[in-house]
Amino acid sequence: MTARCIRLRLDGAPPIRYSTENRLAGRFAEAGRQDHNLGKDQPMSDSVFPAGNLMKGKRGLVMGVANKNSIAWGIAQQLAAQGAELAFSYQGEELEKRVRPLVESLPGSPFMVTADVTDDASMDACFEALQKKWGRMDFLVHAIAFAGKDELQGSFTHNTTRDGFKRAMDVSAFSFVDAAKRASALMPDGGAMVCLTYLGSERVVPNYNVMGVAKAALEASTRYIARDLGPHGIRVNAISAGPMRTLAMAGISGGRTLMKTGKDWSMLKEDTRMEGVAGAALYLLSDLGHSCTGEVLHVDAGFHAVGVPDIAEEG
Ligand code: NAP
Repeated sequence: MTARCIRLRLDGAPPIRYSTENRLAGRFAEAGRQDHNLGKDQPMSDSVFPAGNLMKGKRGLVMGVANKNSIAWGIAQQLAAQGAELAFSYQGEELEKRVRPLVESLPGSPFMVTADVTDDASMDACFEALQKKWGRMDFLVHAIAFAGKDELQGSFTHNTTRDGFKRAMDVSAFSFVDAAKRASALMPDGGAMVCLTYLGSERVVPNYNVMGVAKAALEASTRYIARDLGPHGIRVNAISAGPMRTLAMAGISGGRTLMKTGKDWSMLKEDTRMEGVAGAALYLLSDLGHSCTGEVLHVDAGFHAVGVPDIAEEG
């Protein structure tokens, strides 16, 4: 059976369909990462992003689109479908080539700026470009994480190096603190921010290792940033998504099992859907999210709340 995805057309034309197999083939060819079978037997569900005006008049930066499977891309499509004006940051020329066609498929005049979150000069240039183009902004999406592949397998205690630890924390946690500081300077009338996290921050997940520690720091940072920016009318939240087939997931040893377990043990008995994650971002970034800040919202088919998986009846 050929799995197909739907891209919502914003101009009222019928939805665009394209095959999941084609997208995955492209992704794994380019990925060259650890679990090349990840998701092979789990066709991606169709993604439909409802259109409306919830984000009309709001401008924001989306950080972390690497390709069509990126969580940031799902969120961007949902925000665009609700009228948001978007800017995208990307890291380096290679990424620009991949991301530009996606960005150009959106309505309005989305634009792209380069930003390596580990480089202050690059971040300065990114936010200067936003200031020049827009003057002010309303929201920030942070969907960025990195850890070395050697550290995403086996023993956390034995495989985590000083450099690897610092790099994972820098790219995956500090970058949100830094981006929040810079973005808030362009939010004189208030705004909203979201970052993406995973349950490996709260519980031990095999092979997630140093990334779990970085996600714990990211979630704690979310609360501290929320307190600082609250008086300025800026809400700051995290979405804890269940396992999804992306490049970042393909870098984790055993990612395929993680996805299968994420579905089999979940309350809904389904994979985490992009619509759910993108819808949560829409809620948190739009005015629907009034009064919600400092929160970690789980969008994982209920997996986070399960203590013991289903057990067979005892005879
Ligand atoms: P993805 O498509 O691979 O996105 C990760 C992004 O981070 C890429 O665009 C990557 O760019 C970027 N990045 C890494 N280092 C960077 C740097 N120094 N400067 C700027 N950008 C950098 O994977 P994803 O799964 O959508 O990940 C998005 C977020 O969701 C991450 O925070 C991830 O931890 C989180 N999350 C993912 C899952 C899941 O199951 N997939 C579940 C929960 C949470 P490059 O390609 O250039 O490295």
